Amino acid sequence: MPLTAPDLHAWIRAFADRVAEERAYLTKLDSAIGDGDHGQNMNRGLSHAVDQIDDDASMSDTMRTVAMALISKTGGASGPLYGTLFMDAGKTTAEHEELGTPEVAALFRAGLNGVQRRGKAEPNDKTMVDALLPAVEALEDAAENGTPLSEAIQQAANAAKKGMEATTPLEARKGRASYLGERSKGHQDPGATSTYYLLDAAATAWSD
Ligand code: ADP
Ligand code: MG
Ligand code: MG
Repeated sequence: MPLTAPDLHAWIRAFADRVAEERAYLTKLDSAIGDGDHGQNMNRGLSHAVDQIDDDASMSDTMRTVAMALISKTGGASGPLYGTLFMDAGKTTAEHEELGTPEVAALFRAGLNGVQRRGKAEPNDKTMVDALLPAVEALEDAAENGTPLSEAIQQAANAAKKGMEATTPLEARKGRASYLGERSKGHQDPGATSTYYLLDAAATAWSD
């Protein structure tokens, strides 16, 4: 079933709900290798984003509204990065009435490119990129194989989860965690964790 604007609204609400539920956990992860504010940052930005959603807005207008809300209210490194993700992802929706697997793959690819352009993180730097990149690759494989969206997005969420888990042994090379050097090893990255929630929220909101 292809996606229209209400499906994107449901996804963003599901992401905000998940972050609100896991706020303390995200903050605990960030206390180990950062400054202990990732849960609060994301929750503040996303509650504001949800308040700003207009049920009648188009897909691209919604994505831009969410991007602006995240940029203005999230704070930290994650605010501009998630803001850029939504801004760049949203631009790909402008030319479509509805989105199937190939369009959703393009949406997340554009979001990933935005995060990398802004933050300069490479794979295995122990960041959000480590959850987002495998999800994008899973979506692109699914698009090539003609996999229906509900299945493709579940595969992407599974790939994001694996990528998130794989950040634990890594040494951080970007953001505050990189100040710890070797001591960042043995802790799961908070941003990769919230990015897994982003994908898992889509899998929940877009299941048949
Ligand atoms: P801050 O570190 O400024 O307090 P947050 O705690 O909200 O910001 O977010 C931290 C997360 O941001 C990290 O766990 C990491 O995933 C992500 N991050 C930090 N710097 C970068 C970067 N340059 N590229 C991609 N992600 C990054
Ligand atoms: Mg922090
Ligand atoms: Mg901070």
